[in-house]
Amino acid sequence: MIEILFLGKNCSAYCKRYGEKRPDLQFACENSGCNCRVLHEHGCFWRIAVTKHRQYELPIYRWRCPICGRTVSVLPDFLAPWGHFVIPVREAAMKRRQLGQSFRKIARGVASAAIGGIHPKTVKRWWTRHLAKAGGTALWVAAELIRFGVDEDLLRSHFRGVNPSPEDTVRWLDVLLQRYLRLLGLDPSPLRGRFSSSNTLLPVHLRI
Ligand SMILES: [Zn+2]
Repeated sequence: MIEILFLGKNCSAYCKRYGEKRPDLQFACENSGCNCRVLHEHGCFWRIAVTKHRQYELPIYRWRCPICGRTVSVLPDFLAPWGHFVIPVREAAMKRRQLGQSFRKIARGVASAAIGGIHPKTVKRWWTRHLAKAGGTALWVAAELIRFGVDEDLLRSHFRGVNPSPEDTVRWLDVLLQRYLRLLGLDPSPLRGRFSSSNTLLPVHLRI
């Protein structure tokens, strides 16, 4: 299982704090048969993390249940579980796409030659995925806002007109995320973006 937590605002902060020392965290096994047994420290593996200008190798720490063997890996929130590019790079690419930039131009803008660049097709893949997931994620965030007592018509901020496009939904998700993170006191700096903090809150299948 993967836990996503805030463990520093970026790769270098994470390296400084946890490059040689695991985060001081405790987990209890969720398996009903294990009676909330505390998980043991269980080594680490190395993950490549690529920012706009640099590539890092980060230790990802694991914990393991001594009874059932279930493991937990703890990922800093700026890492995507499935890819090398850090979340703020992906978010910057999505922002540029919303502004109408071509995939080729975005690729040149978000990754430098120093780290080997990025293929426009990769950016296109991110965008397709983002469009496909935005609706489900936006509805989840809207439900959270309602739970927090935001009672105005959140759907009204979705789109004007009759048929919302996937791009309208991506814009709506932006608006909702901004309100949600602000409500939780998590409104992040423009450099860090919103997706990293959001991923510590969203259910696994809705993570951005
Ligand atoms: Zn267990």
